[in-house]
Amino acid sequence: MSLLYNEIVNTYEKISSTTSRIMITEILVNLLKKASPEDVDKIVYLTQGKIYPDYVGIELGVAEKLMARAIALASGENYDKVIQLLKTKGDLGMVAQEILTRKKQAGILQFIQEEEKKLTVSEVYDTLVKVSKASGEGAQDIKIRLLTGLLKKATPIEAKYITRTVIGTLRLGLADMTILDAIAIAYLKSKEFRQIVERAYNLTSDLGYVAKIALIEGIEGLKKVKIKPGIPIRPMLAERAETEIEIIERLGKSFIAEYKYDGERVQIHKEGDKITLFSRSLENITHHYPDIIEKFKDKTNAESLIVEGEIVAINPNTNEMLPFQELMHRKRKYEVEKAMEEFPVILYLFDILYLNGEELIDLPLLKRKEILEKTIKTDEWIRFAEKRIINNIDELLKFFDEAVSSGCEGIMCKSTASDSIYQAGSRGFLWIKFKRSYQSKMVEPIDVCILGGFYGTGKRAGKLGGLLVGIYDPKNDVFKTICKVGTGFTDEDLDNLPKILEPYKIDHKHPRVISNIEADVWYIPAKVIEIIGDEITLSPIHTAAYNLIRNGVGLAIRFPRFTGRFRDDKRAEDATTEEEIIRMYKMQLKKIEEKSS
Ligand code: AMP
Repeated sequence: MSLLYNEIVNTYEKISSTTSRIMITEILVNLLKKASPEDVDKIVYLTQGKIYPDYVGIELGVAEKLMARAIALASGENYDKVIQLLKTKGDLGMVAQEILTRKKQAGILQFIQEEEKKLTVSEVYDTLVKVSKASGEGAQDIKIRLLTGLLKKATPIEAKYITRTVIGTLRLGLADMTILDAIAIAYLKSKEFRQIVERAYNLTSDLGYVAKIALIEGIEGLKKVKIKPGIPIRPMLAERAETEIEIIERLGKSFIAEYKYDGERVQIHKEGDKITLFSRSLENITHHYPDIIEKFKDKTNAESLIVEGEIVAINPNTNEMLPFQELMHRKRKYEVEKAMEEFPVILYLFDILYLNGEELIDLPLLKRKEILEKTIKTDEWIRFAEKRIINNIDELLKFFDEAVSSGCEGIMCKSTASDSIYQAGSRGFLWIKFKRSYQSKMVEPIDVCILGGFYGTGKRAGKLGGLLVGIYDPKNDVFKTICKVGTGFTDEDLDNLPKILEPYKIDHKHPRVISNIEADVWYIPAKVIEIIGDEITLSPIHTAAYNLIRNGVGLAIRFPRFTGRFRDDKRAEDATTEEEIIRMYKMQLKKIEEKSS
């Protein structure tokens, strides 16, 4: 027999009137103890205000107005009055409770009080599932009919909570960890076993399922819970380090550093031909990246696997990485196709958690990396995260500058010790993130000289897609590169540029150009354009101010954009000078110090 819905409602009421975590856990334990195997998972989802674990991606999705109509129909109240009351109360749950109470007192509504007709958890849950599944033509009517039916059977206080659940405003604020504690106490008899419950949760991301196993099979059942492709694993998270010294202290001699890409984390699951992508918050994001799915398909012979990586948007013309905001276009259903062309993405893989029926999370990192590299074939679009073995602070700082100047947020340092397992669902010091501690906007644009060009890809294949630009060093009378720029140009600009640059085209690097980068076409330094970026960064690649700030590095512009101004009024030698850019960089540092002091 399913539990009465009223029991959950009593729990909601008690939880809302306390802030003590111990009390809340106790209240939940009491509820769980009353649950039967048949509805324990439903009870857990409902206490979270859900009907499924998040990764399933099915939401009730009922708008407030629709629910207001159901309340009006169930109570016989005028719809406008329901809306009016909503405006004064601000909570449709309270509105439902008040209207039903009033109608009941006036004897207009009869509440079915017989024991066998009271609402059960299963009845509420199953009806909500039907509501969530109604789709297509007539879906609204079906939803209203189902909800009206439910409200007619509900007591006023039940109606309050049904309403809040349906429109997604239950917000009891129950932490996952509190529910895990309650499961351990209720079914395993002690909080001591919390870790076993937590492990099962980290591997399945489903509290309802974990509660069910705990109730039916106890500790042994939980220990047997396994990773399953298609069901997301709660991701491992990194701790933060403030200084490079702290990293070395914590990780000792045994670690690698990787680029920390500024994109979207993704867990890729393959089961046979089916490929599913999950976000860091375990949302199913498969439909955001049809291009990745297509490209990933033939990259492995594995029957089933789970790998992790970061998806980064790039400018197709220059291959520069773009800030993660550009991935927002992927979130809008009707923009995905367009975004695929305008903002293609690269997947940088950094871990493997499962392969052909075997869990790999308890293997040390280097072993996992070895398996990852053997399992996946890479190409231009699917790559491994850039990594380096680090032996000292100098190497660490150099790699950091390289990462930042390539458009990354910083680096991830990862332990390679024998205990460097994949800690699903937890944040620890086996992974340490080291980001730029400063963030300062570049306030002034600079004038740069066009030194070379790159051909684009996709729509712009074979045409000019980006430029190699530099500043002027008057002491040596040379031009030194400071960045590649491909953003901020209109299609028209890009079509006109080859014509403008044609007279300056040469088949080799000009002797007055100092560059470590090979351009597709070279130009005589002549044309000046204005650009702005997010900030001036250290760079081991670009030659501007090379060795002048620190040995082995120069300066670059992070996320540069063409401002739209061709500086035909300037000669090449009037471009921003090396001295000026050094001054700007130092000013930027000073501002950061002022901000942080
Ligand atoms: P944060 O979001 O600042 O806590 O940093 C952790 C996030 O960095 C992860 O969730 C990933 O999305 C992202 N990330 C980028 N590159 C890497 C990498 N090489 N290894 C692990 N995480 C990475």
